Amino acid sequence: MAKAQRAQAVGCIGPRGGRIDVPGHLAVLPRRLLDEILARGALDAGAEFLQARFEAPIEENGVVVGARLRVGDDVIEQRARWVLLATGAVPKALQAAGMCTRHTPSGVALRGYIRAPSMVGKITALEVVWNQAVRPGYGWIFPAPDGCFNIGVGVTDSHRDLAGKGQKKDVNLRAIFDAFVAAYPPARELLAQGEWVGELKGAPLRCTLQGARFSRPGLMVIGEAAGSTYSFTGEGIGKAMQTGMLAADALLAHAEDAAARAQYEAGLAALMPKYKLYERANRVNAFPWLADLLIWRAQKSARLRQRMSGVLEETSNPGNLVSLRGLSRLFFE
Ligand SMILES: Cc1cc2nc3c(=O)[nH]c(=O)nc-3n(C[C@H](O)[C@H](O)[C@H](O)COP(=O)(O)OP(=O)(O)OC[C@H]3O[C@@H](n4cnc5c(N)ncnc54)[C@H](O)[C@@H]3O)c2cc1C
Repeated sequence: MAKAQRAQAVGCIGPRGGRIDVPGHLAVLPRRLLDEILARGALDAGAEFLQARFEAPIEENGVVVGARLRVGDDVIEQRARWVLLATGAVPKALQAAGMCTRHTPSGVALRGYIRAPSMVGKITALEVVWNQAVRPGYGWIFPAPDGCFNIGVGVTDSHRDLAGKGQKKDVNLRAIFDAFVAAYPPARELLAQGEWVGELKGAPLRCTLQGARFSRPGLMVIGEAAGSTYSFTGEGIGKAMQTGMLAADALLAHAEDAAARAQYEAGLAALMPKYKLYERANRVNAFPWLADLLIWRAQKSARLRQRMSGVLEETSNPGNLVSLRGLSRLFFE
């Protein structure tokens, strides 16, 4: 938190320009810096770091007993009591480990950093913008440390499963990014006043704890490889860490393979209702008018703003806001 840019709210902006600021305790930190802090923490706790590419598990009698790793031009065999696969949303390693049940992602997103000191103080909330131009998804601008801003677009359901083939919809993220910038004046101003730090980068998302098996003897899948990212918000860093902690707790609690895996899978199953609710809330991305409706209603209701804040802080459930019951409460409560 000491290195992060803090913010006090998420600004939700609807297609008609309505805005509601949902209070929360928020922090923005470039991923490279966060990873460095995490890696340093692991090293301080006794981990060894090896830059390597996971190629395949080593198996004996149906049990994973290590991994084949590519280190430069060499392939080495690393024996291990457990292999934890944390290889993110690109499914290649999952497939090599025999854990992938769906190779297509749940969505795709694109983001870059812009340094724009003149915009500091003008954009202070994490702004999330729903707009026809970004449908089915949203655009965002997050104030980051050192006068920088994280700006991007994300599209959900980018790979509709046509006849089980996981065919891709016609999604051009760069065109959607350009349309977002054209449609949202603060994004236009940011691009006009600032300069790019690095490039715009796109990547897939795997959401709702779907698309992979979670464990097999000797191996656990953690993080986004297990689909740990929230649908609707695309929030995944904290969630990935949470699944890592669940796996660590299970390994520390049980010497026996089946018991450790059962505890880990039970931990994920306990999170599932929340993921399902985020999946339901995802309809806001498909039907941006729902965002208009929520924002319009929240502008009038301190109680609804409080509930939205509860979703943000993870003390209440997002699905309640856009379920049929939630919608009728929006109108009639
Ligand atoms: C554009 C974009 C913006 C996002 N913004 C946010 C945000 O603001 N907040 C948020 O909470 N989430 C955000 N997310 C989601 C977030 O990035 C993910 O949920 C999160 O990174 C998942 O963490 P992870 O450690 O499981 O996977 P990753 O961060 O993807 O890490 C996996 C690592 O494994 C490595 N790897 C892959 N294959 C192999 C292999 N075979 N051998 C060795 N290493 C391998 C990869 O190189 C990578 O370093 C965003 C996603 C995208 C695409």
